[in-house]
Amino acid sequence: MSALKLVYSDGYYLPIGAHVFPAEKYRLVHERLLKDRVAVAADFVEPKPARDEDILLVHTPEYVSKLKKGTLSPLEEAQMEVPYSPELVRAFWLAAGGSIKAAELALENGVAFNIGGGFHHAFPNHGEGFCVIHDVAVAIRRMQKDGRIKRAMTVDCDVHHGNGTAAIFGAPRQSGDLLPSKPTHRGGAEAHRNTDVFTISLHQANNYPALKPPSSIDVNLPDRTGDAEYLQWLDNALSSGLRQFQPELLCYIAGADPYKEDQLGGLSLTIEGLKKRDELVFRVAKARGIPVMVTYAGGYARNVEDTVTIHCNTVVAAKEIFQL
Ligand SMILES: [Zn+2]
Repeated sequence: MSALKLVYSDGYYLPIGAHVFPAEKYRLVHERLLKDRVAVAADFVEPKPARDEDILLVHTPEYVSKLKKGTLSPLEEAQMEVPYSPELVRAFWLAAGGSIKAAELALENGVAFNIGGGFHHAFPNHGEGFCVIHDVAVAIRRMQKDGRIKRAMTVDCDVHHGNGTAAIFGAPRQSGDLLPSKPTHRGGAEAHRNTDVFTISLHQANNYPALKPPSSIDVNLPDRTGDAEYLQWLDNALSSGLRQFQPELLCYIAGADPYKEDQLGGLSLTIEGLKKRDELVFRVAKARGIPVMVTYAGGYARNVEDTVTIHCNTVVAAKEIFQL
């Protein structure tokens, strides 16, 4: 049995019917990890659903009430881009509980995974882009509230900009020297809010969401960026971020959708390049002794098995770098 803890539940399945989001991917990743002997049954930890008070650390009481009572407007439901149901709400409360558990385990063991989560498009008062509850933000706020950490960093490598993350945490610091990042402008008061979470997003510039509220560091990548350029930008962003900010927890949002065969992405990373990406994040964190909590976010490869391979490789990379 390794010290690598993988938080997972069959309850992560999202009841959304036929959808570009492969709702079964969590189960497939769980199966593949066992089949390929990357993990054994004892490595998996069953999460508990988040408590409402945890969800309310990030989300507004009005929004939480609408989700629990099923009173979202048709527009609000359309914006989520997943069909509302009480079962859907349960799955998101469970995913948030999973990220809380993964954060706790990361702080104890140096690295831990939620085999789910990463719903970085959820805002305090609404859901969008398949994301209902921002599980990573909930986990960070809970760790802070419990006195386990003061400062966290999000490193979002999903192909889509982490707009919910940026909206929740704001942009405490800014580095204007990271082309192709565009410098962003903020008012003085805004620039100083929420200095306890530093947000990094590497994403395709020409993709959803149209409006990209500023992260601490935004790397707006051109279409068809390949492995070598991507890894260079990621290295730059991590170096710059960690020069400016010393987190006690790094939340790695390991989207599988920068993959060249992704249906919702326009970057050109290979499966091998994505594993190098994972290794880079883990290597940098390990060198600085920063615990890492991993969530999965998006992945819409034409062949779902590729998405599963990319997500499983992230576990393989963690085992290799952390020698677990
Ligand atoms: Zn995505």
